[in-house]
Amino acid sequence: MFEDTYRHKGMRRNLVKILIDKGIKDEAVLKAIQSVPRHYFFDKAFLEHAYQDKAFPIDEGQTISQPYTVAVQSQLLEIIPGDKVLEIGTGSGYQCCVLLEMGAKVYTIEFNKKLYQQAKSFLQKLGYKAHFHLGDGSQGWSTFAPYDKIIVTAGAPSLPQALIDQLKPNGKLVIPVGNEDHQEMIRIIKDSSGKIKSEKHDYFRFVPLVGKFGWKQ
Ligand code: SAM
Repeated sequence: MFEDTYRHKGMRRNLVKILIDKGIKDEAVLKAIQSVPRHYFFDKAFLEHAYQDKAFPIDEGQTISQPYTVAVQSQLLEIIPGDKVLEIGTGSGYQCCVLLEMGAKVYTIEFNKKLYQQAKSFLQKLGYKAHFHLGDGSQGWSTFAPYDKIIVTAGAPSLPQALIDQLKPNGKLVIPVGNEDHQEMIRIIKDSSGKIKSEKHDYFRFVPLVGKFGWKQ
């Protein structure tokens, strides 16, 4: 049912080259992007789009993030195999697959019921194992906290304290924060004593994070 041919693999190699040219260095990230068949997340008619470095619309007015954005966020997380990672904004499930390929244990939350159901059943079909949850990720997922790493894949108006609280000592949180037009990628690093350091990276454009600590709907 799913075909991953030499042509598809070749298209992914070209995409990986584009990401290297744009400055992605983490070998594990590049290997994961080479491994996950991004075209599985697209209708057959849009194959060419699957391997362009572009975001693309999925159902419910949401998007599958641009490969460069996925690569930057995954690189900033500095995944160590076995890391327990919370992803906020399951969307298509593509970013989740990249993290799984990197050896993370992934807990992923989606706010939209249809996307949650689709991603959960689709990733199971592909053989990717993650923990899925339907709910408001702006509040984190306290049941399984704390996490080694937290990634937010929707644009937040401010930094939710709940997410910082659910981070382990030496943990990292990567979250785009800004207005509805563009957001700055923020990396929060919690040290072994629980002290927080904040770094600013490039600007991106995400769909809005909604929920209690997101944008009001
Ligand atoms: N990571 C996704 C992927 O690989 O396809 C891309 C995610 S898309 C850019 C952002 C997603 O965040 C949307 O599916 C949206 O419904 C979801 N979202 C927005 N606010 C949320 C919240 N408070 N909790 C969980 N998911 C949320």
